[in-house]
Amino acid sequence: MKTILIIDDDQSCRSPAAEMLRRDGWTVCEAEDGESGLEMASRHRPDVILCDLLMPRSNGYQLIRAVRSDPELRTAQIVVMSGRDFGSDRQSAREAGADGYLVKPIEFSTLREALAGLDVIGPPAPARPAESARETTAELVPTNSTDRATKVKFWGVRGSIPTPGPSTVFFGGNTSCVELRVDGQLIILDAGSGIRPLGLALAAEFGDRPLDLHLLITHTHWDHIQGFPFFLPAYHAKNRLRIIGYQGACDDLAATLAGQMESSYFPIALKQMAADVVIEEQRELHFQVGAVRVEACYSNHPGICVGYRVFSSSGSVVYLPDNESFNERSTTVHGEALPRTIEENLAKFIAHADVLITDAQYGAEEYQRHVGWGHGCLDDVVRFAIAGSVKRLYLFHHDPEHDDRTVSSMLMHARELAAAAGSSIRIEAAREGEQFTLTPRPIGAM
Ligand SMILES: [Zn+2]
Ligand SMILES: [Zn+2]
Repeated sequence: MKTILIIDDDQSCRSPAAEMLRRDGWTVCEAEDGESGLEMASRHRPDVILCDLLMPRSNGYQLIRAVRSDPELRTAQIVVMSGRDFGSDRQSAREAGADGYLVKPIEFSTLREALAGLDVIGPPAPARPAESARETTAELVPTNSTDRATKVKFWGVRGSIPTPGPSTVFFGGNTSCVELRVDGQLIILDAGSGIRPLGLALAAEFGDRPLDLHLLITHTHWDHIQGFPFFLPAYHAKNRLRIIGYQGACDDLAATLAGQMESSYFPIALKQMAADVVIEEQRELHFQVGAVRVEACYSNHPGICVGYRVFSSSGSVVYLPDNESFNERSTTVHGEALPRTIEENLAKFIAHADVLITDAQYGAEEYQRHVGWGHGCLDDVVRFAIAGSVKRLYLFHHDPEHDDRTVSSMLMHARELAAAAGSSIRIEAAREGEQFTLTPRPIGAM
């Protein structure tokens, strides 16, 4: 009797498939995350592995690589089951060593056919422009620890590539970087080119005093890491820098960050940076930065990409910079409805946030030409934020083609949509250099 291992954290997908396969005569094992899936694979040596891509404790790509590098598992056939159909995901799965790729929801007949043939990876999509837990302790306190207000400052708000010049001077041309000062911690969200001026400002503010910084990386597309080699505090031995993120589709976080500083690209290697730099790949979708609780959630974006929700004594801030918001077109592939798991997870993730900073790269009309690119449509983003009872929405990841006038008119349109929906949500377009403060809630308030 042949053995099949199903690895998927979504039980509503895993259980029906397991039941059908048992009826078909397979011996079925089930696991709900990548790590236990790999253990089960070693123990049961399955003939076939069906695995999801976005799972806690080792994502699907890493699992496939681990299976492919284990000589005892080399005969296993691997079929990916994904709730998304980005061309780059198919390609990454193929490169990792998958034999097949199926898009959920999967008809039983399709699964049977795939298992019979195991030759179902479609052609990679045409290349698109490069778009571009452990508890951490903090002994050094870089900000006034008695200050319970949360301060947020935008240092880079642009998506894809920096766009300096007179037409972007108001909203700014630097790529993703946001600074949070929250309950005594200094947290940096992403290391796009905006992290360079942030580094200069920190050096000026703190002088000889040591800095204890936490850099949370959503994903390693260029526009989220390209500024890191220019981050001045990383070059001073007095400073400590914890870089936190998730393993990627192709490589782990440390290898990717070091890769962009190899000698072909940059004169100084990451390991030559003088600060105490530690790269911590999280395994769970929640972790602590000192006393600050952080949750992560996978977004609807090619490869492995998360958003972060930072909980403070003065409210919560969601940073979800790259995400294709859900709508009728993004939730269907070839006329088939995609499962709503990612959408439901994201809806819970943003619910009742005080601030949502998120991807609103395209207007409704231009979005029609960018369905499936992994970026948000303004009209959908406004609906998403209102449905989640978010108090304040910041439009983020501005398209490099959008000048100040375009971003302003998108902001006006977003406000009109909110007013038409009778919502009191406050909407802004994120602007480089802008900062705001969330004031602490009274003790006992929710
Ligand atoms: Zn991006
Ligand atoms: Zn991206």
